[in-house]
Amino acid sequence: RKRIGVLTSGGDAPGMNAAVRSVVRSGINQNCDVYAINEGYSGLIKGGDMIHKMSWDDVRGYLSIGGTLIGTARCMEFRERAGRLQACYNMIERGIDALIVIGGDGSLTGADTFRDEWPGLIKELLDTKRIDEKQYKAHQHLNISGMVGSIDNDMAMTDHTIGAYSSLSRICTNISWVSATAESHSRAFVVEVMGRHCGWLALMASIACRADYVFLPEMPPTANEWVGKMQSVIERHRKGGRRSTLVVVAEGAIDSELNRISPEMVKDALVEIGLDTRVTTLGHVQRGGSPVAFDRLLATLQGAEAVRCVLESTPETPSEIIGIRLNKIIRVPLQESVAATKRVAEAISKKDFQLARSLRDSDFNE
Ligand code: ADP
Repeated sequence: RKRIGVLTSGGDAPGMNAAVRSVVRSGINQNCDVYAINEGYSGLIKGGDMIHKMSWDDVRGYLSIGGTLIGTARCMEFRERAGRLQACYNMIERGIDALIVIGGDGSLTGADTFRDEWPGLIKELLDTKRIDEKQYKAHQHLNISGMVGSIDNDMAMTDHTIGAYSSLSRICTNISWVSATAESHSRAFVVEVMGRHCGWLALMASIACRADYVFLPEMPPTANEWVGKMQSVIERHRKGGRRSTLVVVAEGAIDSELNRISPEMVKDALVEIGLDTRVTTLGHVQRGGSPVAFDRLLATLQGAEAVRCVLESTPETPSEIIGIRLNKIIRVPLQESVAATKRVAEAISKKDFQLARSLRDSDFNE
């Protein structure tokens, strides 16, 4: 019987539990034993009861619960070979030779490194007599597959990451609440949303909540010019009859000189044109809560595919992550996807940015 380990790592995202549930039950359906590893890679390194076999019933109710019930953590030790050696030992001790990781690009890169090093790690364990010849022979190869759990939708070569639509939906709900008070008092609201490197959430929220203006990490406006430009657009909207003003700022918003554009700077600019302005930082409410239907489905379909993927992979196949493209669940080479993510901000398209502007601004004619 094949033994598969599953862990969640990095920032939590709604739908991670649905993914774990799907891996556990798909694994059982395929005659595998599935082990949950608590607290991400630190559980893998600690071993003991951090690694435990999951039954069908253990994941009852997981589908709709936010966060990750098996826990997640950042783990410095796993970045070092010594940590990965211990992780390897703990897996072999339990007879686990396949690992499904649900996390962001950092966690998935870690998984890929682990797999690459595996032959060297098991050799060292054999040479130091921590494992015997039989264990060595039985665990020649580590199968891994990954699912991208990330609210930021920040992975290339897949259209959506698990958690992004739940987060977007939460942001829109919160913005509609502050919009009600903005409308009543004729106020301006500057709303900061998550996204240090990727502005997908900010851009999509600005479209879905008809923001007057949006600032993203990927499309920095010209330094020294953005204040005046934003002020004139917003004054025009006000003259056109809007009673409230909404500006969305991604956490990682910058200008063309790479200076951060903070919500307070935006607020000051709005106060200058006479608007009663409040700043709202949505913070961790954006991560929490029950996953929306889309994330439950995505995680469930991908979990089943991740199990098929580790069962089919061979030492020759590259590490793969499970993605979705044009509504089809697909496998994508992990290294290529991570490299493409680092190279370009694929999730943001210029077309979306222009759409956001053209719909809120009748004078928009680029
Ligand atoms: P995310 O997975 O959301 O991108 P991080 O980048 O913080 O989040 O990664 C989560 C964990 O994955 C880290 O704490 C570490 O244990 C592991 N990890 C990240 N990058 C690497 C790497 N290059 N090599 C080994 N492990 C890594």
